[in-house]
Amino acid sequence: MGFVVAIDGPAGTGKGTVTKIIAEDLGLVYIDTGAMYRCVALEAMRKNIEPENSREMLEMLDNMQIDFKKNGEIQEVWLNGENVTTQIRTREIDVTVDRYSALKCARDKMTPLQRKMGENSNVVGEGRDVGTVVFPDADVKIYLDCSLEERANRRYKQYLEKGIETTYEAVLENIKQRYKAETEREIAPLRQAEDAILVDSTKMTIEEVVAEIERVIKEKIK
Ligand code: C5P
Repeated sequence: MGFVVAIDGPAGTGKGTVTKIIAEDLGLVYIDTGAMYRCVALEAMRKNIEPENSREMLEMLDNMQIDFKKNGEIQEVWLNGENVTTQIRTREIDVTVDRYSALKCARDKMTPLQRKMGENSNVVGEGRDVGTVVFPDADVKIYLDCSLEERANRRYKQYLEKGIETTYEAVLENIKQRYKAETEREIAPLRQAEDAILVDSTKMTIEEVVAEIERVIKEKIK
């Protein structure tokens, strides 16, 4: 196992953006664990499999191949040989994914895959349970937080940029509902690991968050 950085926190904190920059700056392999659960939701929706249908879910999970491929600046997500980078970031997935990510069978399949990705490299993993479940012995753990309103604000802007029509109120409602589902679920709930450093990004720019996390990492490497 190489050097491992774990960055966890709720949706809309800027986790994805800052993790990408940190991975690039420090030459770490970026493990986007959320993208993997998004693939589970996408595949299940395409196959019309409800989360309650455990037999079909298990079969589907057994036949899923997820790969991350670098294409210039972009880290593409491939599902069974298809580039699904944009398809996994729709509103439809946003409002459905937590029904699938809460499943034991989905987590039992994804967690070992995430660990495997970290086997022979220095990595930065980003998600909800990276520092608590996937890599409990990570060298650096960050819990990235942000106020609910600011998180909804950021997500709303992202939708507008992508041309997705929605309202701020609908986004706020989804962010609230996802936070409740993620923190209250039985398996691998979102929580700050005891040894994680809290970074509150509410009033910080992306650059400031990156600088703060990189400072913590470099301090550790020293
Ligand atoms: O981070 P992102 O919004 O892409 O994650 C999508 C969903 O995947 C989250 O809403 C959460 O339900 C789930 N997830 C998870 N555990 C992780 C990462 C994401 O349950 N480690």
